Amino acid sequence: MDSNPLEMHTLNPNNSTTIITNTTTITTSSSASASSSSSSPTTLSRYENQKRRDWNTFGQYLRNHRPPLSLSRCSGAHVLEFLRYLDQFGKTKVHTQLCPFFGHPNPPAPCPCPLRQAWGSLDALIGRLRAAFEENGGKPEANPFGARAVRLYLREVRDSQSKARGISYEKKKRKRPPAVAAAAVPGQQPPALPPPSAS
Ligand SMILES: [Zn+2]
Repeated sequence: MDSNPLEMHTLNPNNSTTIITNTTTITTSSSASASSSSSSPTTLSRYENQKRRDWNTFGQYLRNHRPPLSLSRCSGAHVLEFLRYLDQFGKTKVHTQLCPFFGHPNPPAPCPCPLRQAWGSLDALIGRLRAAFEENGGKPEANPFGARAVRLYLREVRDSQSKARGISYEKKKRKRPPAVAAAAVPGQQPPALPPPSAS
């Protein structure tokens, strides 16, 4: 019963020509079932809904990108660009090292430090987009959301926000291959990406 209204629409003419007497009952019943199935929102989980919204947002970002950018040519560097773009909508105060509240989890007064996307939000966002990419036909090995540069960027954001906000993001200790991450990545600093604050 999850066939979409379009399919039903194209099927209907056949029915109405072959079974003439039943035309009205068929059309009314099929349209009724179509509307009833679409009115119950198929109980998508919040995660699924969020994932779909994120995927649409990213698609919109690609469409507005100058120069134009197609999903197939999208790289980890573009994903980083996207994440930095999102910072302007952030709601998490991240103190600069010059701020007297640097490292304070609960500052006693306001300060002019910038608002950013919290690391946790970005991390979850990337997870959803990585899944959505493959669900939309992308090849796992070409998944820009799984790119090493993205992982490194997220780790960097986590560490710097953890320091700036005085909050530990440590979860369960996981085994980390010690020297590999930094050493094996020559392209660690993406060259052509200015920080968002640069004018
Ligand atoms: Zn501050």
